[in-house]
Amino acid sequence: MLKVENLSASYQTIDGDVHVIKDLDFEIRENEIFGIAGESGCGKTTLLKTLYDIVEFPLVIDQGKVILSGEKNGQKFSYESGQIRKSWWNNISYVPQAAQSVLNPIVRLKKQFLDSIPDEDKKNETEEQTLARVAKYLEDLSLSPDVLESYPFQLSGGMRQRVIIALATFMSPNVVLADEPTTALDVVVQRGILMMLMRLQKQFKNTLVIVSHDMGVHYQITNRMAIMYSGSVIELGDTEEIFSDPVHPYTQMLVAALPRVGDKSQKVGIPGRPPALKNPPPGCRFAPRCPKATDRCRSEVPKFREVKPGRFAACHLLNEEVGL
Ligand code: SF4
Repeated sequence: MLKVENLSASYQTIDGDVHVIKDLDFEIRENEIFGIAGESGCGKTTLLKTLYDIVEFPLVIDQGKVILSGEKNGQKFSYESGQIRKSWWNNISYVPQAAQSVLNPIVRLKKQFLDSIPDEDKKNETEEQTLARVAKYLEDLSLSPDVLESYPFQLSGGMRQRVIIALATFMSPNVVLADEPTTALDVVVQRGILMMLMRLQKQFKNTLVIVSHDMGVHYQITNRMAIMYSGSVIELGDTEEIFSDPVHPYTQMLVAALPRVGDKSQKVGIPGRPPALKNPPPGCRFAPRCPKATDRCRSEVPKFREVKPGRFAACHLLNEEVGL
């Protein structure tokens, strides 16, 4: 399980701190596909970096922490921010945006696989035996083991992405984080990548966290999802319910703007732009674009609360409805 506790993080710049994520509090469960959605610049990738513990200057955690806990091979484990990297590959792994950039273009893939497998896991076998295990795993994923002899630049974008996913899942980690895993791929390849991620999650019964700006990706494969806006999670719940009955005004407008099969009506985007993170408005950050904004919204930050069973949102109107 991944628990995000009261987490805020910022980038330190010469012009001052930019608070990129603020007061996040939620849990990602075992054996679920969890989506993180939102417009570009809303803090999705920064959140994913804090989940994976790649917090390096100029990114700093201002408060709170992430806790990764669970059980693997009968052993319980628990790591907090600052320790999570000890569990990389084994308990948690990461498929980054622009995945090709993590593969060294001038090193054959077999060496990159061997280097990513912890010594502990290969101590009782020869290099050939380890590579045989990798080849078998690739075959199970319908990938030719011949790719092990290739350099990354010899593969297509879709094939490189599949190899990265194979690399990230080889140790059957409890949690896999994927940042925009289908961006820059054509629609057919995208579908293949999503199917591969779903199949692996089903096989390992682990947690898959998908960050994507594409609501269609979330609709297709996630069980629950969080919607981010300007550094905060503003709605979280069961994906189907969020699409069929969004409760936060931002989510309502986001869902209303989505094209649907057979619907020929003209779709309009959400007017206005997200606020600059360096100088956000006081109160609710969505207020300048929200048709339901009141004076309270413009001065007081709404709390993120459970507004009905399993559904969380940050909106004064919803909090008032449930007496908060
Ligand atoms: Fe709109 Fe107010 Fe709710 Fe913010 S708190 S989403 S401004 S109604």
